[in-house]
This record gives sequence, structure tokens and C-alpha cells, in this order.
Amino acid sequence: MDSKEAIYLYKSVPTEELSKLANDITLKNYSDKIFVRGLLEFSNYCGMDCLYCGIRKSNSKAVRYRLTDEEIIETIKFGLDANIKTFVLQSGEDYNYNVKELSKLVYKIKKITGSETAITLSCGLMNKERYKELKDNGCDRYLMRFETSDENVYSYLKKGQSLKTRIQGLENLKNLGFEVGSGFMVGLPGETIETRINNALLCKELELDMIGIGPFIPHDETPLKEEDSGSLDTILRTTALLRILLPYTNIPATTATGSIDALGREKALSCGANVLMPNITPTKYKKNYLLYPGKICLEESGFECISCLSGRVESVGKKISYEKGNSLSYSIKKIREKRQ
Ligand code: SAH
Repeated sequence: MDSKEAIYLYKSVPTEELSKLANDITLKNYSDKIFVRGLLEFSNYCGMDCLYCGIRKSNSKAVRYRLTDEEIIETIKFGLDANIKTFVLQSGEDYNYNVKELSKLVYKIKKITGSETAITLSCGLMNKERYKELKDNGCDRYLMRFETSDENVYSYLKKGQSLKTRIQGLENLKNLGFEVGSGFMVGLPGETIETRINNALLCKELELDMIGIGPFIPHDETPLKEEDSGSLDTILRTTALLRILLPYTNIPATTATGSIDALGREKALSCGANVLMPNITPTKYKKNYLLYPGKICLEESGFECISCLSGRVESVGKKISYEKGNSLSYSIKKIREKRQ
């Protein structure tokens, strides 16, 4: 389906119908499989001051933590025992890690996990040389949301930073051969339906391998505390639009979506999403990675998170897959490259 047709549907068709269309595409390309990624939030130190984020530098009430390499390795081993083959290590922009340390960490992890697993980092914007060093040391994938395609809103939210620089970062990652993930928040102040459509079109233009979207949820200790949250209906419609525009991309049902509605993730899995990310961060740290209030699964261990998710997946007639779960769009790109 071309983009014009998809946008027409997004604007005019009821959510249920749109979801069915998106779910049919997902079933055709991924059957009933839901890929699992173990999410490890390894540091909440952040040098950035994004207006929306609960771990922004100027939130002096945030309790800061950083896992030791040993704690990280232990958590990864736990994940491997639970059959997880993809690990996503996320942090704030923690300048305590220089590229050598982060690369060493990736190298150590990869040595334990081997080539049948994928390591994803989500640590914010870096220059091309740093990304290259991470890739050379075994990092397979990188996640970095562009947050919004509206340049003015972006630079307002990120205190003068430029969207173009972030997008250049995503291009650099792609050129270095990473599987690249990005995405955006839904319901940011000043957003319109056109913004969301442009967000989705930007995802397509960037040929993303993964796209994570979630509702914006206002955090009390940020300048946006009086704003409204994004709505579940908008998330579901936008997830469906993304699936229609990008049939071969991995799309997670995100924790933020599960945080605004008890069945948010199940609903997202029924309208285009095909990935879940159980939070395997050690329980004692989880509650401090508070990007937004009301975050779910804070009291549960990683083990409980994984077993809870399988029930949720079955409730929508799908099943958890413990494959490495490369995005089909990435595999297609690789085949094309080999042919040329
Ligand atoms: N430092 C990394 C990780 C950022 S946190 C980076 O820059 O990519 C991961 C994501 O959480 C952000 O990209 C943002 O989309 C989301 N997030 C942050 N604050 C939020 C809020 N208040 N509501 C919903 N999502 C939020």
C-alpha cells in the first residue's frame, strides 16, 4: 500500500478496522510470533535536560544509580538462562562511560553470549567514531528515538538541540551496519495528527529496522508536569499506521503503553506490534529508572516479568518466540547488498 492510501486510512477508518488490517500484515510476515528482548536499564545518570524526561539532569530528586560491570554480566547470565537472545542495554547520556569502557563492556558481554545473541545499546547520541568502535566490539543494534519530527518542538524539548543532528546520528548508525531502531512519543505538547503522520513517514524514510512508540506521560518533576498524557487510541492507531507503512519492521508493544492502560500492550500486539521487552533490570534499581510516573512492573523480578508476558501474549492468540528476531527489513537489506 502506498503512503497516501495509508494516511487516508489513518485519518478516516475506525481503530478496529485499522487494527485488523495491521494485524493481518503482521500475521502474514511474522505469523503469530512475538519476539522477546531483555531490557536492562544500566544507568540513570544523564547529562541531558530534556523537558519531558524524569531522569533529566536537573531532576535533583531522581535517585541516581549505575550498575557495575559485574552486575550487568550477572543480569545477562540470568537472561540467557531464561532463553533470551537479545539484550537491550539502555541508559541516560551517562558521560561517566567513555567509548573505551562501553566498548569493553559490549565486548565482555558478547564473549559470554556468543554470536547467536544480539546486543542492542540505547545510550543516546554519539559521534560516528564512537558508534564505529561499539560496532567493532560486537554491538549489533542501536536504539535512539527521534522523539518528534517537528524541528521546532524537538529543539524546544531538547533545549536548543537540532533534530537534524539526531537524524544524522541514525544515518551514521545505518551506514555502519547496525540494525537501527528509533521512534517517537505520542501526545507531546503541540502535536497534531499531521505531526504523527510526519513521524511515521520519517520512520519510513529512514528505513528503520525497529520502531518504538509510546505515549508521552507527564512527570511531576519536569517542566511538562501540567501537560496531558498521550492516549491509548492514538497509540494503537499510530502503531497500525506504522505496520501498514513498514510491513517488515520490528515494532515493540512498549512499557509506556502498558502503563497508561492495563491491557495496553496486548492491544498493541493486536494492531501491528510484534515485540515485547521484559524489564530484567535488578529489582532494587528498577524504581529509579523513572522516565515517567506509573511505570509498570517495578516490583517484579525479571523472571516474573518474563512469565507474566507469556500469559499476556497467549491472551491475544499469539506465542512468545525466543529467536534472535532480526528485523525482516534488515535481512532484506543485507540480501540486496550481497546481490549488488
Ligand atoms: N538516553 C537514551 C535513552 C532515553 S530514555 C536516548 O537518548 O536515546 C528512552 C525513551 O523514553 C526516550 O527516547 C523517550 O522517548 C522516552 N521517555 C522519556 N520521558 C518520557 C515520558 N515522560 N513519557 C513517555 N516516554 C518518555
